[in-house]
Amino acid sequence: MTDHTDHIQHTWHLTHPTHGPLTITLWVDDETVQVEGGDGESYSTGDGEGRPEIETYLLPKYQQQEGYTLVRDYAVNPPNNTPLPDDRPDGCPQCGQPTEYVPHHHDGTREGPAWMCTGCRWGQWSAGI
Ligand SMILES: [Zn+2]
Repeated sequence: MTDHTDHIQHTWHLTHPTHGPLTITLWVDDETVQVEGGDGESYSTGDGEGRPEIETYLLPKYQQQEGYTLVRDYAVNPPNNTPLPDDRPDGCPQCGQPTEYVPHHHDGTREGPAWMCTGCRWGQWSAGI
């Protein structure tokens, strides 16, 4: 994990064949949105609607209009200390790294809450909150 991520709720990593990587972060206040790369947006929605802002505006903008590909997205911290499910594994059984909660994990056939290893690609479905 990188340093100084206490204020980050969720991160989206995108890439582009010529423009390179792009990172979108949503802060735990559910309002602050920052884009690293691309047009470098950095603002607060001011209404707690940061996630819909990203999902309905920023992601479509970069993916559909500018040709970026979403590589990975993951939860960093719960929004404003929302409790996490209590079925968190004690580290990854494959490599021992900590797991992170992904509320909307897709595995290609199913979507739902899951615990994902921060080191390898191991994951396990969660019962959710
Ligand atoms: Zn692992």
